[in-house]
Amino acid sequence: MMRQYRRTKEELDADTILFFRMGDFYEMFFEDAHRAAPILGVAITKRAGVPMCGVPYHALDSYLAKVIRAGLKAAVCEQAEDPKTAKGLVRREITRIVSPGSLTEDALLDAEASNYIAAVFSGKGAYGVAALELSTGTLAVEDAHGEASLIEALRRIAPSETLVADDQRDLLAPTLPASVSGPLTATDAWRFMADQATDTLTHQFNVHSLEGYCGQGPLPQWVRAAGALLNYVRHELRRDLTHVRTLDVRHSGDFLALDECTCRNLDLLPTPGGRPEAETLLGVLDGTRTPMGKRLLRAWIRSPLHSLPAIHARQDAVEDLQSDRRRLSDLRAILAETRDLERVMTRLSGGSGNARDLRALADSLAQIPKLRERLAGSKAERLTHLAAELRDLPDLTAELARALVDDPPLTIREGGIIREGYNADLDAYREAAQNGHAWIARYQAEQQEATGIRTLRVRHNNVFGFYIEVSKSQLALVPPTYERRQTIVNAERYVTPELKEYESRIYGAQDKGNALEYELFQALRAKAVAELAPIQATAAAVAELDILQGFADRALALAYRRPIVDDSLDLIIREGRHPIVELQPGAERFVPNDAHLNGTTRQFILITGPNMAGKSTYIRQVAILAVMAHIGCPVPAEEMKIGLVDRVFTRVGAGDDLARGRSTFMVEMQETANILNNATPRSLIVLDEIGRGTSTFDGISIAWAVVEYLHNTPQRKARTLFATHYHELTDLAAALPGVKNYTVQVREQGDSIVFLRRIVPGAADKSYGIHVARLAGLPAPVVDRANVILSGLEGQKAPTPELPKRRRTPTPTDDDLQLSLF
Ligand code: ADP
Repeated sequence: MMRQYRRTKEELDADTILFFRMGDFYEMFFEDAHRAAPILGVAITKRAGVPMCGVPYHALDSYLAKVIRAGLKAAVCEQAEDPKTAKGLVRREITRIVSPGSLTEDALLDAEASNYIAAVFSGKGAYGVAALELSTGTLAVEDAHGEASLIEALRRIAPSETLVADDQRDLLAPTLPASVSGPLTATDAWRFMADQATDTLTHQFNVHSLEGYCGQGPLPQWVRAAGALLNYVRHELRRDLTHVRTLDVRHSGDFLALDECTCRNLDLLPTPGGRPEAETLLGVLDGTRTPMGKRLLRAWIRSPLHSLPAIHARQDAVEDLQSDRRRLSDLRAILAETRDLERVMTRLSGGSGNARDLRALADSLAQIPKLRERLAGSKAERLTHLAAELRDLPDLTAELARALVDDPPLTIREGGIIREGYNADLDAYREAAQNGHAWIARYQAEQQEATGIRTLRVRHNNVFGFYIEVSKSQLALVPPTYERRQTIVNAERYVTPELKEYESRIYGAQDKGNALEYELFQALRAKAVAELAPIQATAAAVAELDILQGFADRALALAYRRPIVDDSLDLIIREGRHPIVELQPGAERFVPNDAHLNGTTRQFILITGPNMAGKSTYIRQVAILAVMAHIGCPVPAEEMKIGLVDRVFTRVGAGDDLARGRSTFMVEMQETANILNNATPRSLIVLDEIGRGTSTFDGISIAWAVVEYLHNTPQRKARTLFATHYHELTDLAAALPGVKNYTVQVREQGDSIVFLRRIVPGAADKSYGIHVARLAGLPAPVVDRANVILSGLEGQKAPTPELPKRRRTPTPTDDDLQLSLF
C-alpha cells in the first residue's frame, strides 16, 4: 500500500496534500502528515515508523477548507473498488484536486461571492485572459491591451488563483501581484499552444471553429488562455466540465473602469478587513432574494456598464417593475422560493449532487411558470427578453415532483429518496421489509392451526435466521416437511421452505430497495443533467431578474429616481444624497446637495471648507451616484443627468498603505500620477486633499499644478471634483475659466461653529482648524494659545499670491508644466 501511496503522491505538485482514503478515514503520511497536522489540528501518530495523521471521511470538506485557507492544494484519493470484493490491494484513484480557484463544495464556498480560476497568456500585442467559475460553469474571456488593462481586468474578476504557462511565469509574475491575481500556478506551456487551445474550445462548445466567437482574422489571445484553462481543469484538477456551455466574450470598453482603490474609496463592495457589507453600496442596493442574484449583483457593481443601450435597458426594466407594487411583491415572494440553480446543476452534472439537489431543482423550476406569468405584458424589452429565457421544463419538474420525497436525505445509497407509488418494484421491496412482522405472525398462527401445536413459535436469531421452535413435549405432532436444525435443552428448532424463502425476501428487500433507489436517483439525475443548457440559461435570467426587482424594491423604499444617462459631458445632480451615509443609524439628518459639472465652463469644481464640514462625503457622493447611474439602477437624488463616463478615478484620504512600506505622501503622489497619465475627457476624477502629506508650500504648489494640468491639457480634461482645505487654491478660479469655487456652509455661533452641510458657490475664507480642534476636545489653554499664534502668523502674510502671479498666463504644453511642477 505504501508503494501505491508513493506512486499516487508522485503525480502531484509539491504543494498538494494527498488525502488517502483508508476505510472510514483519509490518511496523510510522511512529509504531508507533518505539514497537514498543525493546519488540520489533528495529532500525528506513527505506525511501523511511518508518521501519519487522519481525518474522518464524513468531515472531509471542512478539512479541505483548512488546507485551502493555508494556501495549499489538496488531492482526494478514493478507493476505486469495494474492499469487500477487491482481490488483494484495493485500487485507489485521485478523484479531484481542490485548489483555491477550483472549489465547488458548498461548505467551502461563500454562497454570495463568485470564485474564479483565471488564466493569463501574454501574446503578440495583447494579454489573453480567461476566467472560469467552476461552481456555476461561467467562462468569461477577453483580450487586454497593455499591462494596465490586464490588471484592470483581473481586478474586476478577482480570481482566487491564476494559471500561467511555465515558460511565462517569470515574465508575468512581476506584473501580477497576488493581490490582483491570487496565487500563480504554472503549468505546461503546451496547453497554451494555439492549436491545442483551439481544439479544446471547439470540443467543449461543440463547434466547428471559433469564428462565431471571435470572427475571422487573427486569433484573439484569450483563445489560448481559455483553452489552457479548460484543459488544465479537466486533466490536472480532474473536474467534470459538462456544465461549461457558454463562452462570454468581453471587451474592456464595455465597462466603466474602476480600479481597486476607487472601489475601496467609494465603499462599493465589502473587502476583507474593510467595511461590513451593510456600510457598502452592495449592502444598500441588495434587494435580491436568490444567491444567484446576489453573486451577479457584485459583478454588476464591480463592472458598471459603458454602453447607453445596455444602461437604458436596465433602467427601463427597473422602471417597469417599480410601476406595479403588487406584481413586484409577488415576484419577490416567488424568487425567495428559488434555490441556487447554478450551483445545484454544477453538482448534479459533476456527479456529486444528491437528492436534495434534485428536490431543490424541482422546487425552483416549479416557480418558473409563476415568474413568467408575472412578467407577461411587461413594457420593458429586457423583461420580455428575460421572460423568454425562463424555461420551466414541465416534464422534468413533474417527474421529479412525483419521484422525490419532500425532504430527502443527504445520502444517496441508503434509500429514503423515492416517494411511494413511483416504482412498483420499490414499493414491493418496502412492503416486504416493513410487513415482515405481520407475515411472521400470520405464518405462526397458520402453523399452530395446521399442526395443532399451541406452543409453536416462529423465532429469529443471527445464526439460523428465522426458525420454528417446538417444545420437547410436542415433538410427536411435528410434520415431516419440517427440517430439523438444532436441538436445545427442552425444544427442537426447524425451518421450512416457505420460511426460508420469506426470510431471503425480507433480508434482501432492504438492500435491494436501497440499490433500486440509487438507480432511480441516477436516472433522475441524468434526466436533469440532459437539460443542463436550458436550466443554466434560466438560472442566468433569474439572477438578472432578481437584481432588477431588487433595484425596483430599493428605489421605492429609499426614494431613488431614474437618472438620465446620455452622451453629453454633463454631470448635473439636484438634491443628491450619499446612499451609504444617509442610512447610517444614529447619524445626523442627511442634507441633500446639488452638483453641476460639464466639459467646458464647469469642468473643475474646487470645494474648500474646514475639516469635518462634509467635503469628502460630498465628492464621494457625486462619484457614487455616477457609478450607480452606470450600473443602471436608480439614484438617491431628485434629478440627475450624466454623460457617459469611461472611468472613475479617486484619490481620497490618507492612503493607509504603511503596511506596504510606502509613505503616505509617496502613495498619494503615485495615485495622482496614475490619474494624470490615464484620465480622458470622459473620465470622472475625485481628488481629496492632494498634497496634504507634505509641507504646506509643497502641498499647495503641487495641488495648484495638478489643477492647471487637468484644466489645460485637452486629452486629460476630465470632469473633476477637488476638495481641499487650502483656501489659497480658490484663486485658481480667477485664472482658469473651467474652474468653479464651492464651499461648505458654516455658521459661526459666538466661539463655536455649526456645520450646515450645504455646498454653495464661493470660497471658504477661513479654515476653522482651531474650532475643530476645540470640538475634538483639545484642552482650552492649548486652543487659546493656538489662536494667539495664528493671529501672529496671519500678520506675516501667506505665500499664495506669489504663485498665480508667476504663472499668470499658463502655456499648456506638457514640457512646460512638467518643468514647473518639479
Ligand atoms: P470633511 O471631508 O470636510 O472633513 P467629511 O465629509 O468627512 O468632512 O464629513 C464630516 C462628517 O459630516 C461625517 O461624519 C459625515 O457623516 C457628516 N456629513 C457630511 N456630509 C453630510 C450631509 N450632507 N448631511 C449630513 N451629514 C453629513
